[in-house]
Formats: sequence, C-alpha cells, structure tokens
Amino acid sequence: MAYLSSEKVEHHFHDVVIIGAGGAGLRCALQLADAGHRVAVISKVLPTRSHTVAAQGGINAALGNIVSDHWLWHMYDTIKGSDYLGDQDAIEYMCRAAPLLVHELEHQGVPFSRLENGTIYQRPFGGQSREFGEGGQATRTCAAADRTGHAILHTLYQQNLRSGTHIYEEYFALDLITDDDGCQGVMTWDIARGEYHLFQAKAVILATGGAGRVYKITTNAHINTGDGGGLALRAGLPVEDMEFFQFHPTGIADVGPLITEGVRGEGGYLLNSEGERFMQRYAPTAGDLASRDVVSRAIALEVREGRGCGPNKDYVLLKLDHLGEELILSKLPNIHELALRFAGVDCTKEPIPVQPTMHYTMGGVPTNRFGEVVCPKADDKEAVMPGLYAIGEGACASVHGANRLGGNSLLEIVVFGRACGNQVHKRLRNQRYHPAISPDCWQPGVARVQRWLDSAGNKEGIKVSDLRAAMQSVMQEHFSVYRTEEVMSEGVKLLDELAAQLDTARIEDGNSIFNTELIEALELEHLMGLARVTAAGALARRESRGAHARDDYPKRDDKKWLQHTLASIKNGKVKLDYKPVRLQPMTVESFPPKERVY
Ligand SMILES: Cc1cc2nc3c(=O)[nH]c(=O)nc-3n(C[C@H](O)[C@H](O)[C@H](O)COP(=O)(O)OP(=O)(O)OC[C@H]3O[C@@H](n4cnc5c(N)ncnc54)[C@H](O)[C@@H]3O)c2cc1C
Repeated sequence: MAYLSSEKVEHHFHDVVIIGAGGAGLRCALQLADAGHRVAVISKVLPTRSHTVAAQGGINAALGNIVSDHWLWHMYDTIKGSDYLGDQDAIEYMCRAAPLLVHELEHQGVPFSRLENGTIYQRPFGGQSREFGEGGQATRTCAAADRTGHAILHTLYQQNLRSGTHIYEEYFALDLITDDDGCQGVMTWDIARGEYHLFQAKAVILATGGAGRVYKITTNAHINTGDGGGLALRAGLPVEDMEFFQFHPTGIADVGPLITEGVRGEGGYLLNSEGERFMQRYAPTAGDLASRDVVSRAIALEVREGRGCGPNKDYVLLKLDHLGEELILSKLPNIHELALRFAGVDCTKEPIPVQPTMHYTMGGVPTNRFGEVVCPKADDKEAVMPGLYAIGEGACASVHGANRLGGNSLLEIVVFGRACGNQVHKRLRNQRYHPAISPDCWQPGVARVQRWLDSAGNKEGIKVSDLRAAMQSVMQEHFSVYRTEEVMSEGVKLLDELAAQLDTARIEDGNSIFNTELIEALELEHLMGLARVTAAGALARRESRGAHARDDYPKRDDKKWLQHTLASIKNGKVKLDYKPVRLQPMTVESFPPKERVY
C-alpha cells in the first residue's frame, strides 16, 4: 500500500512532548519551556477548548482569607473524602503546595473574584472542614465567579505563548512509542490535513483528561474520551482504580450539564417532591455540603423511595432563588445561563431539576507524586516507566482515591503539572540525546487509521456511532451510582460482546481531511478498553468505598480492599492486579482509616 511508506510520516524532534493542552498539560509545558527546553504540546482540539475551560466552582487552597484555615486540615479532608484510598504522600504534597500555586496563578493573570479587602474570594465547598472535622465548615475554594477553569486555562495558554511552547493543535495521538527501555515518542494524526506525524522526545507526558464519555449522561465534554488511559492500555501498561467514577449530585436532569457545587456553597439547597430538605437526614452536620458520593446516593435513594420530582419522579430540585438575583448574577452567572438554556428555568425565580450525573474520573494512568508513570514489577510495585509521565484527570497520583472533593482537581492539575515539569527537567539534564526508536514504530498507528478509512465502503459491520451508544448504555445501566454482582456480571458480558465487534465496525466517511467520524472511531477504541477495565475492576471489588457503592456489599472492607486496582488488557483479556495504598505522608503523621461520617 502506497501510504505505508515512511515518507508519508513527518518526523519531529522535541525535548519533551506533552499530549494534552488542558490545565495540566499547559502548566507543565510552562515549567519546561521557561526552563529553556524545546516543548511540544499536542492537542486534538484548540487548547482553549480543553475541558478545563468548563470548570466552574473553583480551586482549593487553605488561604484562610475568610475563616482561618490550614493545609493540614485540607489534607485531612482530602484523605477522608477519598475514603482512605488516596495516597497520603501525594495528598500532603498537593495540599501544602496549594497556596503557592494559587498565588502564582493570580500573578500569572487569573482574574479571581475579590473580597472587600482585595484578597482572593473563597467559597465553601463539599467535604471541607476545619480542625479535622471539629471546627465546622471551611471556606477553601478560590473562585473567578463560576468560570474559574476558563480563567485558568486562558491564562496558562497566554503564558505558554509568551514562553515559546510549540503547540500542535488538532493533532490526535495514535500510539505511544515504547519498548523495554521506556517511552521515546508518540505517533499522531493531523486531523485538519489528514497527515501522519511522528514525534520523538526524551520525555513524553500524558495530560489527556477524563473519560466521562464512557457513560451516556455526563457533565463531560464530547472530547473526554480517556485517550491517555487507552494509549497506556494499548502499550501494555496498566490503569489504576478505574472503577471509581464520580457522580456529581447536580447535573441538569436528563441532559447532564453541570450545576456547580458552588450553588450549595453560596446557600442553595436540595428539595424532594415533598418539599423536604432531605440532606439533613443523611448528613446531619454537613447537610447539603456533604461529600459528593454521599449526596449522590441520598438523591438516588430519595428517587428510589418515590420522593423524586417530575412526571417520572426521577429528579430532585436545587433551590437558589432565595439567594437573590444580585448574588446569582454576580457570583453564579454561568449557572443562570446554563439553567435557562438546558432546563428552561430562570433560577432567580424557580428551582433547577437535578440528578446525579457522571462527572469525574478518579482512576487513570498510575503515577507517583512526581508524575512518573508507575508500571509495577513482581519485585517492585513502584517501578517507573522511563521517559513516560502522566498528569491531570487522566492520571492517578492518587490524590482523590475513591472520591474526589470538589475544587481539588483544578488544584491537582496545576500542582502536578508543575511537579512533573520539575521532574522531567531533572531527567533532561542526564538525557542529552534522543533515545533510539524502532524504524517501523509508526506502522501500527497508520494501519489502524487506514483500516478505519477503508471501512467506509463496507456494508457489513456495526456503525461506530451505534457501537458507542450501546457501550455507553451498558455503562449507564450496569455501573451506575448503586451496583450489584448480578447487574455488573451481566454488564461485563455485554461489554465483551461489544468489544468483539470493534474489529469489524465501520465508519461511513472515508475522507482523510477533517474526518470527525474517524476521530470518533479512534476514541471509541480507547473508551471500549476503559469501559472493560472499569467493569472488571468494579465487579471484583466486593466492598463499598467512595463512589463505588454496592448494595450487596454495603460496608467498606479495609482488611481486604485498602488497595489500588491495576487493570491491563493482555491478549484481549482484562487482567487485574493490586498495589497497596501509600498511607505514609511525606513529613506528617499518617491519618489511619476510620469511619466516614459527615
Ligand atoms: C463541567 C465541569 C466542571 C468542573 N468544575 C470543576 C471545578 O469547579 N473545580 C475543580 O477543581 N474541578 C472541576 N472540574 C474538573 C476539572 O475541570 C478537570 O478535572 C480538569 O480541568 C482536567 O484537566 P486536564 O488538564 O487533566 O484535562 P483537560 O482539560 O480535559 O484536557 C485534556 C487535553 O488532552 C487533549 N487530548 C485528549 N486526548 C487526546 C489525543 N488522543 N490526542 C491529542 N490530544 C488529546 C485534549 O485536546 C485536551 O487538550 C470540572 C469538570 C467538568 C466537566
């Protein structure tokens, strides 16, 4: 075949290649470009369309601008929020670094909302406390109105333009180039021009974001297809803790767009069909600001017991009109707009219909707190893959464990973006030359793209869009807020059947220029792998912890399950392995697991 010639593959050399131009990728790029390295950022969309732009509520840091606060209390809340599955060294690192990173963003140009005295505005968010849960609610989430992610992403993008980062926009990463010695580059497809580009680098960083699109209804953008995890699985590497997907309590009913927790932080609350503030029953102290898994389960139970609202009694109401038009339009303008557009509701006058909606991917490519990808060996569970790094929502550091606290992921992306940049900088000092790559490493990527383009004439085989919809429905119905052995076993079977159809699936558009159907097919390869490992990990984990809630095993089981799941796909079959949780922080005493009440 003519196209299988290396002349058709343009070859690039950079010191570092970062896949992903969200907050994580851009913060990391900035660290390295400012240090003088030749940095490439590859993104399948324009950088400012990355999902970070959609983040609303804010970013956590114990600044104590409104009430006193301490990074140790933030650390405690994060560990408790994680249902003790989070790695305590990474959590300590993140919470300690938070004030520095937020002030740095402020100086880089993020237009944070302000208090009267000129300091950064902070709002209360779920799961935040003072004095290790004894001192009441903390006010820890720094906000730029309800468009914090937008402000951060645009600022980081502009800073990267200043620092000379090379940005390759609308390039799709097809394959990691790896061998036994590590990772040496990435093979890509230029979406707009329909051309192949091979990037060779001394370090490759995955910053590809979440995998929300494995579910049917999600707050995530269409581009959140977990490509980093998919690339890792294809390279034979494991992904960690994928059974933990966070359901946000307040997605707009039936459609999914997010109504930030900041609404409840500002004083909004939930009501059932009887007009009752039911969260007081489930979380007597924290009420509407209990942790997200707790609030999502409470809503699911209200609906199950017949106290849901609407014709199908399948949602609850989020009331905020009592906050007044002035506060809503100044602090929550985006929410006002989203509620109008997606629910037809003017939230200054009426409540918003909401239901738990898939929101955040706690699992991802396993890393240590330096962003190095961990690829356990029999004798070393923390062995790292040389030259490969992962950061942001697509990585699992693991700072969120079994349940993420709101406001902690914007924090994670800047903290570990920077930390990973520093770690790569150290590697580059000793790695003066590009490691060699195998001469035909580009072939598998080219063959896959070509197989899809060639499928356009086929009459046989399922259409990619139908296969994706079927997979999303299985995930939605079999791996939702509440899970059981029977329903999940059925789901695993169905997913295996769907995965088997991938090799013969087809697209209808065989054009190579800006072929979005081709991109959807490539994304589906990643989604399918992630759905399968999510399902297998969830079925195996016979306990309830954080976002993984089982009717048949309602209790947390620390004896057996205080460990991370590592899932890989070998010879077409999902393989599960486990590694211990890192309970030892860097400098302070460990927070041992205890019962989690709010
Ligand atoms: C609606 C919404 C609201 C949120 N609100 C908050 C909040 O208030 N506070 C908070 O802390 N967190 C919030 N989050 C979570 C937070 O925004 C994300 O976890 C975080 O922004 C992820 O950043 P990232 O850099 O890891 O990935 P993203 O911003 O998702 O960027 C991923 C990048 O990877 C690129 N990419 C992916 N695959 C490929 C590929 N195959 N080839 C090339 N490029 C690829 C994409 O183009 C993109 O540039 C929210 C999330 C959502 C969905």
